[in-house]
Amino acid sequence: MRACRNFGWAALAAVCLWLAGCAHPSAVPGSDASAQPEGASGQVAKPGWATRTYAVAAANPLGTEAGQQILQAGGSAVDAAIAVQMVLTLVEPQSSGIGGGAFLLHFDGHQVQAYDGRETAPAGATPGLFLDASGRPMPFADAVVGGRSVGVPGTVRMLALAHQRHGKLPWADLFQPAVALATQGFRVSPRMATLLAADPHLAKDPVAAAYFFDTDGKPWPAGHLLRNPELAAVLQRLAREGPDALMRGDIAQAMVDKVHQHPTNPGTLSLQDLQAYTPKVREPLCFDYAAAAPARAYRICGMPPPSSGALAVGQILGLLQSTDAQRLPLAQGLPTADWLHLYTEAARLAFADRAQYVADPDFVQAPAGSWGSLLEPAYLAARAKRMDGGPLGKRMKVAPAGTPGKVPVAYAPMPDQPEYGTSHISIVDRWGQALAMTTTIEDGWGARLMVNRGLGLRGGFLLNNELTDFSFTPADADGRPVANRVEPGKRPRSSMAPTLVLDQTSGQLVMSTGSPGGAFIIHFTAKALYGMLNWGLDAQQAINLPNFGTLGGPVLLEENRFPPDTNQALRERDHPVTELPLPSGVQAIQRTPAGYFGGADPRREGVVLGD
Ligand code: GLU
Repeated sequence: MRACRNFGWAALAAVCLWLAGCAHPSAVPGSDASAQPEGASGQVAKPGWATRTYAVAAANPLGTEAGQQILQAGGSAVDAAIAVQMVLTLVEPQSSGIGGGAFLLHFDGHQVQAYDGRETAPAGATPGLFLDASGRPMPFADAVVGGRSVGVPGTVRMLALAHQRHGKLPWADLFQPAVALATQGFRVSPRMATLLAADPHLAKDPVAAAYFFDTDGKPWPAGHLLRNPELAAVLQRLAREGPDALMRGDIAQAMVDKVHQHPTNPGTLSLQDLQAYTPKVREPLCFDYAAAAPARAYRICGMPPPSSGALAVGQILGLLQSTDAQRLPLAQGLPTADWLHLYTEAARLAFADRAQYVADPDFVQAPAGSWGSLLEPAYLAARAKRMDGGPLGKRMKVAPAGTPGKVPVAYAPMPDQPEYGTSHISIVDRWGQALAMTTTIEDGWGARLMVNRGLGLRGGFLLNNELTDFSFTPADADGRPVANRVEPGKRPRSSMAPTLVLDQTSGQLVMSTGSPGGAFIIHFTAKALYGMLNWGLDAQQAINLPNFGTLGGPVLLEENRFPPDTNQALRERDHPVTELPLPSGVQAIQRTPAGYFGGADPRREGVVLGD
């Protein structure tokens, strides 16, 4: 009952019981609400931050400070992102790190490039990886914990590739903030302490138990000074030797041993898998978007598959353009029931296409030969006709996938599955280069495996469980394969949606944004974009808006943020409605006439810094 445990709030007990499928991937796409982000850890109001020349936004203040230090020292956006990522490996280990994968979208002032550092399945992985002995999908937690779910980490090689092209400072310098903090110690943050106390699996790993817990097995409280000498040593090696120090030699061997030696759930990750990993530079997925108020034309760019993020965000925004949504302003600062009806209907259509089509493009064909076919205005206008946009229009009975280009569907839709555990970084540098990077080890605390070379140094780094982003079910009852099934060397489908928005006319940067949150990343990012582009909110106000969305089943609303009337009005339109914490972690930096304005999510610990 992962979502139930994460949210562990008494008020949610009934919801969790009601949600058949909290423990298992459910059979019907989007029929449950278990695909939730990491647990909630309270809210702290954020002011929003104005800067003149550069800015960095990350999910932990120590991460942001490291980025700021590098930008101040004349580093580029990519230089700063590397420093931030290394510090996050230490101070926000539950969400991202050198044992995981990431997507980075970069704007050099002229063009956008998409860097794909997504994990790959080891050569030994098979389509039945997550089926039990009787051929049924394993319970999610059984699949996650252990070596089985570990994909080949891609973040460090991806950052090295981006650094070769866009770095200004020496690679080694970018590791110094993290090495210093790991050596001298950092204070455990309230969020890390909350998530440590809530996790029943991490302490089963002896290395993690000795690092994150005291000798009585109690998790370190917020404020505890924690040192990670093993990570300091690993980062020093990466600084000196480059990314190969992680993917070959003794550190690689320690990862392989960790995966193979899990007592009950080993995996197949090998030295060859690590050596062979290659990050990719992909054509970004960009689409035009006309905002209503103020009327302005944008070019929105995101990550193409294997992420479903930009496609789904683009479909939702595009579908809404064929409705009255853009004429519906906020009421008392909140989205109205009329608008939420249209938004969630658009989302149901987008999630149906996502389940049907999106997977690693090196393994599956895009529908009608191009991922852009899913964003064609004519296709979306035809899809939007399924939505009942009339006064008190009702929820669609079913929201099936479409057939862009009228090409028949070759794949079975992927059943709904949980996704968690991620961090978002947005940066602009003094040269006007910008990036949006979303980085993950998948579940909170990943596979619950802490890598340590056994040299007597405490700590280490966590391995991802990204392979659980593949479909557990490889085929439907008729034997039609699911596009996102496990295959050796394949990248699992993601929801991560790092986004850069440009002005369509001038080509100038308008904003960088993104969020963690599993499949809800799509809604958190769409909300931030819609709030800024259509409702004229600044980055902080847009992030502060209550969260909402659907994965195809009930309409999910952030609890205690909407008036009862909204909930009631949605029910009158036949929407089942569930209220949940929905802790997003959006970071956004927008360009202003005076420089930049950044916002960070009050639901997490992020801050923005700059000059
Ligand atoms: N593993 C997920 C993905 O790549 C992200 C998990 C999360 O954000 O919580 O889409």
